[in-house]
Amino acid sequence: MNPYYSAIAERANHRCEYCHAPELVFNFPFEVEHIIPLSQQGTNDESNLALACRSCNLRKGTRISGIDNDSNGEVQFFHPRQNLWDEHFQIDTETGMVMEITAVGKVTVENLKMNSAAQVAARKLWIRLGLFP
Ligand SMILES: [Zn+2]
Repeated sequence: MNPYYSAIAERANHRCEYCHAPELVFNFPFEVEHIIPLSQQGTNDESNLALACRSCNLRKGTRISGIDNDSNGEVQFFHPRQNLWDEHFQIDTETGMVMEITAVGKVTVENLKMNSAAQVAARKLWIRLGLFP
């Protein structure tokens, strides 16, 4: 396990710092990911580490930005240490969807596929169980 796991998971309150999935309902610890990948001069400092569910971490990969289809410009993904989640996303508890508020939220939701069928189905179940948001 990543040596930083305990500190990072506690700081994140055991939720994915991108989609806010609750680690509690998974049968394997969430992953410590580099917000800026080591390959792009990111470091192992805690300020560059975030707790991520497998889905978000796999889809983010080594990327830090995506193309915003509205402006055709490149927009940075949500940065858990520099951005406030509530300023970029909100949860629609009826549909289970993560709704983007900003371009940062939009490229993050799209590229990390936060509203994939599996993500939304799981989120609706967590909402029914009172575990989300
Ligand atoms: Zn996630």
